[in-house]
Amino acid sequence: SEKAFVMIKPDGVRRGLIGEIVSRFEKKGLAVVKAELVQVSTATAEEHYGHLKSKPFFGELVDYMTSGPVFTMIVEGPAAVKNSRYLIGATDPAEAAPGTIRGDYGLDVSENVIHGSDSPGNASIEIARFFIR
Ligand code: ATP
Ligand code: MG
Repeated sequence: SEKAFVMIKPDGVRRGLIGEIVSRFEKKGLAVVKAELVQVSTATAEEHYGHLKSKPFFGELVDYMTSGPVFTMIVEGPAAVKNSRYLIGATDPAEAAPGTIRGDYGLDVSENVIHGSDSPGNASIEIARFFIR
């Protein structure tokens, strides 16, 4: 079965949402097979969001992602990438449906609680980036 990389961002950790968010993945039927509370380095944040380097918000994004610990997870199950993106909801919490993690816990696109990999190929790259160090 497929693996996805999921990361509760610093705002989600600060607000005490780890348990609630992990519970949603478990209730959906995705297994949390590895997890860690970790401080992301500037270099790793810049690499992870490298495709956004030209965006005006890139500096703020890196500062946000390194502002405190994140909770990284590998979740596994059928279509884990697609299913976790559905649980997470739209990038902008103001546009994310109620019932999704961003729809229920976020307000602003600049601090949107959680990351999920967007393809199985990127899931493998992100798992290597965050768990094979
Ligand atoms: P993620 O990759 O974090 O799961 P995503 O795939 O839904 O999010 P991306 O387009 O990959 O969306 O954007 C990556 C992250 O960059 C967003 O989750 C958000 O934290 C930040 N971001 C995106 N657009 C904006 C914006 N307009 N202003 C501020 N931050 C933004
Ligand atoms: Mg993305």
